[in-house]
Amino acid sequence: MFKLVFLLAIMLCGSLQSNAQSPPTYEIYALKYFGIHSVPLSELALGAPKKDTMNMYFMYWLVKGNNGKNILVDAGFLNDLDIFKELNTTFYIRPDSVLLELNIKSDEISDIILTHPHWDHVDGISLFPKAHIWIQKEDYNYFVGEAWQKDGRHGGFYKRDVDTMVSFNLAGKLTLVDGDDKEILPGIKVYTGSRHTYNSQFVQVQTGGDKVILASDNIWIYYNLEQLKSSPYPNGTFDTTAYVKSMQRMKTLASNMKYIIPGHDPAIFSRFPMVKPDIVRIK
Ligand SMILES: [Zn+2]
Repeated sequence: MFKLVFLLAIMLCGSLQSNAQSPPTYEIYALKYFGIHSVPLSELALGAPKKDTMNMYFMYWLVKGNNGKNILVDAGFLNDLDIFKELNTTFYIRPDSVLLELNIKSDEISDIILTHPHWDHVDGISLFPKAHIWIQKEDYNYFVGEAWQKDGRHGGFYKRDVDTMVSFNLAGKLTLVDGDDKEILPGIKVYTGSRHTYNSQFVQVQTGGDKVILASDNIWIYYNLEQLKSSPYPNGTFDTTAYVKSMQRMKTLASNMKYIIPGHDPAIFSRFPMVKPDIVRIK
């Protein structure tokens, strides 16, 4: 009898423990906040036909946990940046306003995973005062340091974003992620290797039975992925071979090709179900 009770107790403990450790489930949304028209395809993918152009969307992603976490992947930008005037804009909505379509206020964002510090991904972090930032250590160091030295590459970087990023760090609200294949939050891993920037990262969200890859600009558009064509050097990547290898790796990390989500392709908004005018659910 004692043995039986003991066994039952062990089984119960085991099941409680596995319950406590099972990761939260997440809903994943893509939110578009900005569009431009007539970008030459050859500027986005090596070997693409010179005459073709496409429209681009600028978006970020919400990963909404059943544990109360509202996590963003990237944060968009504010349209008072100089570059805004130079672009063939089709629409702009401030990133935090798009989020309101889901009844989520900006101070309800708990975390922002930055895939890389280009203006259109990092500038918007100032809109989310309570968020904790996650960025690759090497990407951060390059962004605040070497990029601004002689021969440094600061294309796509803005000084005010450096200031904002440093202030998050000084406030103790920024974690430097050290390298590849790291689980930074339960069920959420980041990977490096694509070198869109110095050491950009992409995100794998494990939810239910599926593994979704939020590639962000580690794949600009579906054409890159489907044709296995790198974005061009130097604007699209530091290393075109690494960019292609990284896309091949993503195919092994997602449960299905359809769950690899590029950074700027308008087709995302027709391939997935619309939940609000500017929002689709990755499902
Ligand atoms: Zn981008």
